[in-house]
Amino acid sequence: MSSESSTDVDHLASTNEAVGVVQFSSLEDRDAHMDGNSSRRAEFDDSILLHVENLRKEYRSGSQPLVLFDALNLTVRRSEMVAIVGESGSGKSTLLHLLAALDRPSAGDVYCASTWLGKLTPGQAATFRNREIGYVWQLHYLLPEFTALENAAMPLLARDQPRSAAFAKAQELLCEVGLEARMHHLAGELSGGEQQRVSLARALVTQPSLLLADEPTGNLDNRTADAVFGLLERLHATHRLTSILVTHNMEIAKRCGRTLRLHEGRLHEVRLHGSSSEGAFPQVPTASSATPGHPIVRTEFPGGNAGTA
Ligand code: ADP
Ligand code: MG
Repeated sequence: MSSESSTDVDHLASTNEAVGVVQFSSLEDRDAHMDGNSSRRAEFDDSILLHVENLRKEYRSGSQPLVLFDALNLTVRRSEMVAIVGESGSGKSTLLHLLAALDRPSAGDVYCASTWLGKLTPGQAATFRNREIGYVWQLHYLLPEFTALENAAMPLLARDQPRSAAFAKAQELLCEVGLEARMHHLAGELSGGEQQRVSLARALVTQPSLLLADEPTGNLDNRTADAVFGLLERLHATHRLTSILVTHNMEIAKRCGRTLRLHEGRLHEVRLHGSSSEGAFPQVPTASSATPGHPIVRTEFPGGNAGTA
């Protein structure tokens, strides 16, 4: 017999409604909801955390619209660590913003953690981000006049969690990122590497399902970048995360399970020398599709360099 009272069930239902969670009674229901085509069921099994379909994004600031993506597709399975590389201005940050419901596409759909982002109101999008997404930027965006502990606890305080519980969880995370001795220091007094560690703690304090990191080591020297990425790799495993990481650092991209290059509005799967998933050369990739079931795009990856920011 279920131990849930009707009040609990009501609460769950209203919570799901609040964050735009789409609940399906069967896989068929879910597929019908997603695209009305049940033949695509295999693509939407529970192992898939993120599915992006026919994404288009254009900006209309000048006389000509700037089309960043058109018919961009992407599927990411749970536990994957995916690197996204690409020239500066190719739209990598914009893509992460769309995945986090920080921005809206011009067309197309994003499904993330059982949520159809196109359906969310701005308030629901904020709740979705707070629950499902951990975000780390190149610039840490910590509040410099608050301590590391206060910064790390911020996402839990924003959801009105009791302060003692929020600080206990933040403390746990700060210990995990090796900052137990810096917990009560002001964020503005920490080094760049330490600030990025606090950002990681803040991103994970809510136990998100998807970690989005936009050039998280871009402002750090090589040694610190390596240490911060090593930490990110460890947290990805221990927190059972799915992670998408934008980087210009090919050594970091090689350590991710999959590398995609954003080029001319599409994602191209690339194979890098020494990649954990692919092993050896050639550097010219034999691409499989960025999305199972979508046309294969072959690409060359010039010189193993994604360009510089
Ligand atoms: P990346 O992260 O790959 O360097 P961005 O996603 O930041 O690229 O930007 C891609 C392009 O979109 C750039 O040319 C940028 O100027 C343009 N862009 C970004 N945001 C806006 C906006 N709000 N209005 C108009 N153009 C924008
Ligand atoms: Mg960017």
